[in-house]
Amino acid sequence: MKQSICLLGATGSIGDSTLDIIRQHPEKFSLFAVAANTNVGKMAYICDTFRPKVAVMGDSESRDELARRCKGLDIQFEWGEEAMCRIASAAEVDQVMAAIMGFAGLKPTLSAIRAKKRILLANKESLVTAGKLFMDEVARYGVTLMPIDSEHNAIFQCLPQDDHGFSKSHVSKLLLTASGGPFKDWSLEDMKKVTPSQACNHPNWSMGQKISIDSASLMNKGLELIEACWLFDMTPNDIDVVVHPQSIIHSMVSYEDGSVIAQMGVPDMKVPIAYGMSWPNRITTEVAQLNLMDVATLDFSQPDLVRFPNLKLAADAWFMGGTAMAHLNAANEVAVDAFLKKQIGFLDIATINARVLNELPVFPVTDLAKVFEGDRIARKLAQTFVQSGKYL
Ligand code: NAD
Ligand code: MG
Repeated sequence: MKQSICLLGATGSIGDSTLDIIRQHPEKFSLFAVAANTNVGKMAYICDTFRPKVAVMGDSESRDELARRCKGLDIQFEWGEEAMCRIASAAEVDQVMAAIMGFAGLKPTLSAIRAKKRILLANKESLVTAGKLFMDEVARYGVTLMPIDSEHNAIFQCLPQDDHGFSKSHVSKLLLTASGGPFKDWSLEDMKKVTPSQACNHPNWSMGQKISIDSASLMNKGLELIEACWLFDMTPNDIDVVVHPQSIIHSMVSYEDGSVIAQMGVPDMKVPIAYGMSWPNRITTEVAQLNLMDVATLDFSQPDLVRFPNLKLAADAWFMGGTAMAHLNAANEVAVDAFLKKQIGFLDIATINARVLNELPVFPVTDLAKVFEGDRIARKLAQTFVQSGKYL
């Protein structure tokens, strides 16, 4: 039976790759609804090409402009977070691609879980900030949660599987690979002067701005460490981060008998997306097959926590528990935005993250309101640091 898709974050990098998989398999997938923030031009193109039934924008001006540009198309145009929650839980939808950038993705993703959709989770920030509540809801509603982040998708592929998901039998460790980003071998002195365009220029992956900066500062790996803890019921002590600059091995699972199983392929997000959409089957992707002779060498090393303190901060936040992970994520969203606007330097991102994480009191996450409150106070403190410049 054809699977009906709701694509949240349709105009982004993951949105592009998801649309490409839908285009390649019209007999398997149809696009019911799309959502994006303010990129009207790209959304108009998507509406014209894919003809979803509903299109949602972040604000009313963008919605009106989109409706004007798409006049004559049989599409319902809406705006705002509530509308995004409605399309994510609509009866017509089978699978929801959660690919909104940042904390803004949390509510629509939770709506999709509560409506028992298959969740294709790219939006790691929702799981990082609300991890326990998120996973409790996944269990309560019995939904299939497919990790789309390439590392987590790789781990999922390397774990023992049954029709309901994965098991952890005989697993001793997870090995989370990291490219190391564009500044892997740079001195601290040189990293001080990094520009946003240098930081966005990832060696192996083409991604949205925020995750590109996160990859350069290793915050992405920190968020992924927390993401892996929640997804696979582990702690940072069960996970080794391995720097592997070629990004050919997307992650590995180490077993108690000494076996290590790796998932490999050329770095292209269409592979984990197609896997998530077709699991437990596989479908074609038009992605090039890996040629190991071309790659020739695979390198591995330990991450440098002195030049990249964000990775350590993420592990700290996990052990602090409660709202600490929401604090760290919010501080980072503010700091990355300030770096992109050239208000702070590259190394200041981790400094602000550390200050916010270490200065705010942590509360247990007993309900969603606590997560939103943690996010709010952390954003406020991070903004104060950015504006005053007093964080060193
Ligand atoms: P992107 O910046 O290219 O796209 C983000 C999308 O989210 C856009 O469609 C944008 O309109 C939408 N958006 C942003 N703010 C919004 C808001 N407030 N309300 C509604 N929509 C909003 O980002 P991306 O690279 O596609 O990444 C999306 C998510 O997937 C992120 O959480 C990222 O960490 C995760 N992810 C991305 C990749 C990748 O290769 N790009 C890999 C793994 C995980
Ligand atoms: Mg990743």
